[in-house]
Amino acid sequence: MEISFVGKRALVTGAGKGIGRATALTLARCGAKVTAITRSQADLNGLMQECPSIIPVCVDLADWEATEATLQDVGPIDLLVNNAGCSSLQPFLEVTPDQFDRLFNVNVKAVVHVSQVVARGMKARGSGGSIVNVSSQASKCALRDHAMYCATKGALDMLTKVMALELGPHQIRVNSVNPTVVMTEMGRMAWSDPDKANPVLSRVPLGRFAEVDDVVNSVLFLLSDKSNMTNGVTLPVDGGFLAC
Ligand code: NAP
Repeated sequence: MEISFVGKRALVTGAGKGIGRATALTLARCGAKVTAITRSQADLNGLMQECPSIIPVCVDLADWEATEATLQDVGPIDLLVNNAGCSSLQPFLEVTPDQFDRLFNVNVKAVVHVSQVVARGMKARGSGGSIVNVSSQASKCALRDHAMYCATKGALDMLTKVMALELGPHQIRVNSVNPTVVMTEMGRMAWSDPDKANPVLSRVPLGRFAEVDDVVNSVLFLLSDKSNMTNGVTLPVDGGFLAC
């Protein structure tokens, strides 16, 4: 199945590393005009070296005003990937207000903000569009020391469904992908210790964690017109972890 994004304009958040970086590069290879948002200029420099057609945007999405100002210059967008996310591990009884705010600001509030700006444009142009939120299996399964992360991803799943409900009449589809562990920088931070990783890995029927490309392929499918009738789903990319 060939997927082409020729003529489409895509915005990917958290495009400096990991899943977001690979998504931005793959979208560009498939013909999309890609705008890449992240907060480290060095990562954007590397991305532009690898793919000079990518438009770099450096902003901390936790900063509402800075994000608002930046998004005014981005122009019309057909495809949005809300991928930027952060994690912070601690036992539930040790969660601090700062950790709560940081995770909700990036993992939920920034998704609301970026999606509002992009979807308002899609609605005004009457062009429709597709939005994919990068959630996690942690939205549906309790993971030790992940109280805030699980809570933000659970919120993101419901946000995805309500956005699908309200934006569907404007032909804007909204879905999420919900990966299991992926050994990106974030994945290594949480799951490098085999004593922590093996009990989770042993519950994946396919017997492995996800590769970055497993996630990117599902994101591309949901962005593309191959999934034209799919709206409001939270798609596990988890080798069957959530089925058991
Ligand atoms: P990653 O390797 O840590 O990359 C995250 C990217 O997002 C980085 O470029 C980071 O920039 C950027 N970012 C984070 N906070 C930002 C902010 N406030 N403003 C702008 N950019 C920001 O993470 P990943 O593993 O690719 O994760 C991508 C998404 O997949 C996240 O939503 C994550 O929750 C989800 N996910 C990951 C896994 C996993 O095991 N890795 C599993 C399920 C779901 P800096 O590096 O400069 O901060």
